[in-house]
Amino acid sequence: MHFKPKNWAGLVTSLIILLVAGGLLIAFVRNNAVTATVSNLNLRRGPGLTYAVTTKVAKNSRLTIIGEKDNWYHVRDSQNHFGWVASWLVDHPGKLTHATTLSEATIVLDPGHGGSDSGALSIDQKHDEKTYTLELAQRVARLLRAKGAHVIMTRNSDTTVSLAHRPELANTHQADAFISFHFDSSPTDNLASGTTTYYYHRKTSYALAQAVNQEMNDLPLTNRGIRYGNFEVIRDNRQPALLLEMGYINTKKDFNDIRNAHYQETVANNVVQGLSRYFTTQH
Ligand SMILES: [Zn+2]
Repeated sequence: MHFKPKNWAGLVTSLIILLVAGGLLIAFVRNNAVTATVSNLNLRRGPGLTYAVTTKVAKNSRLTIIGEKDNWYHVRDSQNHFGWVASWLVDHPGKLTHATTLSEATIVLDPGHGGSDSGALSIDQKHDEKTYTLELAQRVARLLRAKGAHVIMTRNSDTTVSLAHRPELANTHQADAFISFHFDSSPTDNLASGTTTYYYHRKTSYALAQAVNQEMNDLPLTNRGIRYGNFEVIRDNRQPALLLEMGYINTKKDFNDIRNAHYQETVANNVVQGLSRYFTTQH
């Protein structure tokens, strides 16, 4: 039995095709499996926090991905349980060891203003509201990510973002919460003081307003409570949405806190506490 040189070439080509196809198949199967690297991971009935938990996944177990929607994976575990898992919590790259309801949440954070829209001016006329809304939102983002939550920022630098785009991000990502950060301004300097929690849609957002506002009583600024506010970023939001005014930037007392890292970190911690309790009691 012998091959002509032409047939040898054909055989080698076939072998190469076979090896490449086999390699791709193995890669495909591998890419469609993920590991539960954190404990207490839920499988849910649908792709989101609002769906019921069907089972918990044992840590280090392998999950086969059979579908994907809204950043959640439809998976099958080794015991043939089917369900949906938050995609950012599998093969988790961070230090998180234990998932919570907060970890499963997608949260849109909206630092008010930015870019060509500087927001209100500080009492000393030297600082813009947009600077502190970004600092505060970034602190909240860091704390939430450390707890495993999926955080989306409407802006992460001093850029111009339209008002319409902000709630749109929450709507398209089916966010579990949206929080817009602002600092108030009164017509006359040093006229007003304190923090206010605004909601627009009572049905979707009032419970979130209560949970977050309850945490705002340990601040050096007076908690002015929960109010209805007709702001586009919360009005055009289909998701639970708040707008927080965390002090008056044109009041000397308030501005001293607004620019203070300790005040910002306390507010950020309070927001995270409020969100955590909200998700634990709602879902
Ligand atoms: Zn503002």
